[in-house]
Parts: sequence; C-alpha cells; structure tokens
Amino acid sequence: MTKLGRLENLKILVKEFPTEPGVYLMKSQIEKILYVGKAKNLRNRVRSYLLESDGMSPKTKLLASQIYQIEYIITKSEVEAFLLEASLIKKHRPKYNIRLKDDRSYPYIRASMSDTFPRLYLSRKVEKNGSLYFGPFASGFAVFETIRILNHVFQIRDCSDHFMKSRKRPCMTHQIGRCTAPCVSYIDEETYRESFKAALLFLRGRDKTAIQVLTEKMTAAAREERFEVAAKLRDGIEGLRSVLQKQSVINDRVTIDQDAIGFVGDERGSLIETVHVRSGRVMGSRPHFIGHLNVMDPKEDVRDWMSSFLNQYYSENVIPDEILIPISLGDDITKLLQAVLSERAEKPIRIKFSADSTSVKLLQMAEQNAKDHFRIQIEKSDLKGKGLEEIKRKFDLDKLPIRIECFDISHFQGQETVASQVVFEEGVPSKENYRLYKMRTLDEGAVDDYKSMKEVLERRMKHTEYDEPDLILIDGGKGQLKIASEVLKELGRSDIPLASIAKARTTGEFQDAEVSATEERFFLPGRLKPIVFAPYSEAFRILVSLRDEAHRFAISFHRKLREASGLEGVLDTISGLGQVRRKKLMEEFETVDAIRAATVDQIAEIKGFNKTIAEHLLEELKK
Ligand code: SF4
Repeated sequence: MTKLGRLENLKILVKEFPTEPGVYLMKSQIEKILYVGKAKNLRNRVRSYLLESDGMSPKTKLLASQIYQIEYIITKSEVEAFLLEASLIKKHRPKYNIRLKDDRSYPYIRASMSDTFPRLYLSRKVEKNGSLYFGPFASGFAVFETIRILNHVFQIRDCSDHFMKSRKRPCMTHQIGRCTAPCVSYIDEETYRESFKAALLFLRGRDKTAIQVLTEKMTAAAREERFEVAAKLRDGIEGLRSVLQKQSVINDRVTIDQDAIGFVGDERGSLIETVHVRSGRVMGSRPHFIGHLNVMDPKEDVRDWMSSFLNQYYSENVIPDEILIPISLGDDITKLLQAVLSERAEKPIRIKFSADSTSVKLLQMAEQNAKDHFRIQIEKSDLKGKGLEEIKRKFDLDKLPIRIECFDISHFQGQETVASQVVFEEGVPSKENYRLYKMRTLDEGAVDDYKSMKEVLERRMKHTEYDEPDLILIDGGKGQLKIASEVLKELGRSDIPLASIAKARTTGEFQDAEVSATEERFFLPGRLKPIVFAPYSEAFRILVSLRDEAHRFAISFHRKLREASGLEGVLDTISGLGQVRRKKLMEEFETVDAIRAATVDQIAEIKGFNKTIAEHLLEELKK
C-alpha cells in the first residue's frame, strides 16, 4: 500500500464508521495495536487523525503515519467507552497510549472482611472481593510495621486461614497476649469484630477515635488495678502514635480520602505525581513517568491525557472520595470522568479543580514532588543513555540498543527445562515483556542446549507482534553464542545483533590487564577476543542485570513448577529438614507460601520443631 493509498483507504473506511460512542483500535501494517481510544462520536473522532493538520502533536503525527487499519467497538454510553478503553489498554499495552508501569508494586493494607474473623495483610492488588483496602503506603515496610502494631494493639490474628482452621489449641501468639484466639472460640465473632472495627477506624484516619477507645480501656484497667493490661494498652497507644508521627497533617478537620495530582514535563517526557491524603493525613506519594508524552506541549490536549491517566490509574488503585487536579478539564469531561469513577468505585466520586487554601497546599505539594521525581528520573535516564552508548560503541552496533532481550536456559535436575526471556527497554526492566517458554521439543529428562536455544529463539521470532530487539544477549560462553548465531542464521535473522555473557576464568586464556578488569566477559559472533567493561560502568551494570534477571525469572518459575507438582524442591534444599519434618510442615501448611507466611512461633509449635529450626527454616525460605 502506498502512503497515499493507505490514507485514502482509511478515509473511505472511516466514512462508514458509526456516529455512536465507542472505542477504536488503531493497528499497524502487521496488525499490531498501536493505539486505543474512546469517543463520543466514533466517526468524527477517528477522522480527526486522518486530517494531517499542523495542530497535531509530534506523537500524534507519528501515530497517524503508522495506522493501516482501524477497528471499533460500539458502546451503550461514553461511560462504558471509558471503562472498556482502560481494560483494552491494560490488555494490549499499545505503544502510543499512556502506559503506566505495573502498579502491583503499590502496597496496600487489605482487611479480609468476608472472613468470620478478619485479619490484615499486605496486598499489592486491589480487587473487588469484599475486602477493604487502605493506602497506598509509602513502602512494604510501612505496611508491615502498621499491621504489626495494629495486630498487637487490637489483638488481631496474624495466622493464615489454613493454619487457623487446623488449630486444636491456641498458638504462641495467644500465649504472649497478642491474639484473642478465635481459632478455638476463646472469643466470639461479635467481640472480635468490635476490636477489629477499632483498627479499621485507625486505618480510615479516625485515629483520635481509635486512640480514645484504647485510652478508655486503659483507664478502666488501671481503675480495676489490672496494671499489666493497662501497661500493654499504654504501649499500644504509643505504638499508634509512632505510626501517626510519620504522616504529616494537612487538615485534621477533613474526614474524606483525597488524591492530589501534580505534573511536569518537557520534550524528554512527563511525570505525573499522585499524593495520597487520608482524612487530612498525607500517607505518601507516587511518581508516574511517561516517556513519550510532553504534557507542557500546547498541542497535547490536557483533557485527553489527563482523563486517560485518571481512567487507567484508577482502574487498578483505590479511588478516593475526591481527586484534586491543578487544571480545569471543562464541565463535560469532569462530569463524565466523575460518572466513570463513581461507577467503578460504587460510591460518588468528586473531581475538583478549586483554589481553596488546603487544596492549593496539596496541589503545590504534588507539583513539587513531580518536579523532584522528574529531575531524578531524567538523571537516571541520562545515566542509562550513557550506558547504552557504551554498549553500542563496544559491541559495534548500528544503533542504540534501546530494547535488549536476554535468554537463559535453565533446568532443575535435568528436568523441566525452561527458557526465560527478559527485556530491558532504555536500560531498565520492562516486566510486561518478560516471557517463559517451557521446552516442548526435548525428550523427558534430556538436557540439550542446542535444541533448547533453537526452540526458544524460533518461538520468540514467531511473535512478530512483539517489538524487535536491538540486541539479543545469551547467557553463556562461545559455545552458546555459536548455537544462537546458527539458529538466527537458519531463521534468516542474522541482522539482529547478538552477544553472550560469561564469567571469566581467573587464570589461563585471559590475563591481560583489560580482561582482568572484571569478572564478566562478553563475546560477539566472529570476534575472537572477549569484550570487557569497567566493573562499575553503567553499561556493565545494565548487561549483568539483564543476565541476573533472566536467571531469577527462570528460577522463580521452577520453584512454582515444583511446588505445583508437589516436589516441594525448596524444602529439599534446606539443611536440617529431613523427610519427616518436611512431611509435617506440608501437613500443617499445605504450601511453601503458607510456610513462608507463618511466624517462628507457629512453626516452632509443630512436633519435632523448635525455635532454632523454625528461624533457620524461615531465613532459608526468605533467601
Ligand atoms: S492460631 Fe494463633 S494467631 Fe491464629 S487465631 Fe489462633 S491464637 Fe490467634
């Protein structure tokens, strides 16, 4: 299709588009989804991309030049179009959409309200499952610390459901006075929930009420001369105050949850910051860097990118009662977004652009945080850029290795061979592009590096919808590199640059000063001498991190496979755990993950175990 032919064809196609609301999907020549958008009027919206107007941003122009096909899905309303757009972007992660990093790293406290005796635990996913979520918190540590104090103060169980169900008598947590032992009905549901409610009050920001409840209990205990109980309550109140001290107060008269949005950007990208305020207390803030968007470019429509950001961000995170934004989106978009978020949250949500003093303070904080994080991000990107330049130079590449794919073949005791594919884009992990290939062509128990490498590269190259790698890195020495090189040649893909990474031998073939500079050496096809990098150079860090990440990814898959197939290989490798103890552990907890979640005391209670063994076991499992 010529360029003119392409545009003409698209214009003819779009003339037939409906004028109803819906979602459109723009595709490339190889049918890769480049962009997903929503529209009130599909025909008018999509037609605007084909007008080649000067008012288009460079990004939109580039997108428009690559569209070969456009498909659409009609929706009942614009609200439905918004909801569908977010799920399609999440599924396809199109190149030209605002794509937020995997938000699973945001730690929340989850309260399992559907359990008879609910508990609190860390969750990195917000799901509609009857649970309540609090956060996001600044770090996993902050979550654990808060849960630890709340469990202690309000005597909430800290055991897994399975562990609780299997109890015939309370565990050590009860003996040291930190749990009321609902497992053996020492407390009824109503009384337990009463105490749990006080913990929820605290998490909702009603800290004064929670502390007041405890203070009343403490005073009563002291009056009745139960001094030990009173002392414990006093320690609990201090614990809660120590949590609160780490959160700054913006307005203690506010009882709702709010997020404030700030942003900054230039031609190098944009950073959108979300500051999370719960009942007037700042819980933390999160930066979201978007590489291909310049929010300061007047050609970028703020209503487009801001609504797209809010739509996606709040499809995976807790939606607060109020979202403060620093610019007006206009009445129509604001109302529409409010309707979308309210439907998702199943409660009324307000998007507010206003200038009252508390809002301004929060918005200024969001903007300042955005500026700080933007500067850090750009410094990091510059450093990565320098590293990629060095790789380009030393590996003699035609262009910067923006996308590097690393492959590692791994097996467990000669079985279950898997190949991991990890991807770094612009020098940093791109986890959404990680893949695992379970080998299909090997005979059972066979270890064959050639066959495995051939299979994984063949299967990878069939995925033409994946972006092309600028460099493939293989874990291994000259032998593995030769195999990979032959496979790429057979596939007609010798054009893809290839390198391998291997540990240097300390003596023997490489003794010149340059090679001994680092333990790792790199091989290129057709080049006799290995390439080395200074050990602390950014180029070295990027390449070694790729290899380590490929190892880690394959090993984690093996662990899951073994656990799923009942081999429980992790336990096999821990010294001091004979068959009998392993059996006891599995009878008690059923899965290795449940063992990992248990406490030292819970393990030490099992027949044949003691605290030393339990501590050793948990330490090994954490490794
Ligand atoms: S098993 Fe321990 S932590 Fe769990 S409910 Fe019973 S006493 Fe509490």
